Amino acid sequence: MTQRDYWGCVRISVTERQDYKRCHRLWNSVSNNRNGYVKIGPPATALHLGSGVHAVLDAQAKWRFEYEKLWHGGSPIGLEWNEATMSAAADAWCDAEAITVSAAYEAAVGARMPDDTYGILDTSRVMIKALAAQYFNRWGWMNPIAPMEYLHKEATFRVPIPDTEGICYWCKGKGCDRCNGAGHGPGYLTGTFDGIALEETKELWVVDHKTYSQKPDLSLLQTDDQFLAYCWAAERLFEVRMAGGLYDGINKKLPTVPRTIYNGAALSKEWIDTTVAVYKAELEKHGFAESGYHDILERLRLRELGDQTPFHTRYKIRFPRGAFMRFGEYLPYEYRDMTRSDRPLEIAHPLNEPNFRWEGCWDCHIKDLCRAIQFDEDVDWILRSYARGSGHRTVINQELEPTTAQLEFATP
Ligand code: SF4
Ligand SMILES: [Zn+2]
Repeated sequence: MTQRDYWGCVRISVTERQDYKRCHRLWNSVSNNRNGYVKIGPPATALHLGSGVHAVLDAQAKWRFEYEKLWHGGSPIGLEWNEATMSAAADAWCDAEAITVSAAYEAAVGARMPDDTYGILDTSRVMIKALAAQYFNRWGWMNPIAPMEYLHKEATFRVPIPDTEGICYWCKGKGCDRCNGAGHGPGYLTGTFDGIALEETKELWVVDHKTYSQKPDLSLLQTDDQFLAYCWAAERLFEVRMAGGLYDGINKKLPTVPRTIYNGAALSKEWIDTTVAVYKAELEKHGFAESGYHDILERLRLRELGDQTPFHTRYKIRFPRGAFMRFGEYLPYEYRDMTRSDRPLEIAHPLNEPNFRWEGCWDCHIKDLCRAIQFDEDVDWILRSYARGSGHRTVINQELEPTTAQLEFATP
């Protein structure tokens, strides 16, 4: 095989593609295939909270999945998914996370993580449990995605990208375990989806749980690249047709407690982000009879039944076939551009000069580094607050097995 102008066998993650398309400097800085810079220190609280809620929801899906399999095999397991098991799952994740975070901190800084950081992690633990309980109270503890049913739990995947066969980047053609000794192979798209769900209509959906603090816009989700990437990958992994994605949004917010009015003689009926349970608890606390509050309680109850509440947002996003086709058509171009052989992965991409949008890059986590690069300031000094990942080699550790062979559909 002659060398093409791009390499084969590189694994491109779904999220890395998004960084690449948004800003080459961002991609070049944080991608595991490039410099792999990560900020030293504990994760941002919001991020930590999101991952924790996510982990608990995944634990439930796994429980449900196993339960279903066993049930249909004729031997239901007696275990229940309830407040106690949920809480245990949250604790398990939080404990493991505290160890990982502190170990990473010590490795990077060479000192023990400050005690107040542990305090932050514990505050998140309480919030993770509260948000998860709120989620299952709304959507059900047995099957929160009903009337859909999980066909597959969370899985990491690695799917070959068509038209990307090239000489193996890792061994330069000599043969290694990345290319199964062949010296060449296709590029891969890697990622993780939260689950695959089957609807009564026999349509298949990719499930994505997302915590948010700003309510997502349906029209933006319709063009969401990540969802489409998961669907495209799932079609190849399972050789099925996907209908689209189930956006399962969880607001990182707890109900507001209604206030008393008339010097504590009554509870306010103003339309706030609260729930029937919280409202009733307040009535009881103050000794007010429910009879005077039927109107507001009924209004709250009806709102809670909807797919859109102040705390949860659920959308089914159906992708037209044309969207799948476009995705499959352009993915090889993206891969080939990202792995050009005349641009060693170690050096900066020529398109490293960003386009600074007038809105600013409020959601970019390497703004300080970017500024230093832009103004030709002391970049090395800024980089002291970043750990240098092992660059492209991190991809070897980021082992996402192709799951195709292991996937077995439970029969619900
Ligand atoms: S701050 Fe903006 S321009 Fe700079 S790396 Fe981040 S996204 Fe790119
Ligand atoms: Zn190889």
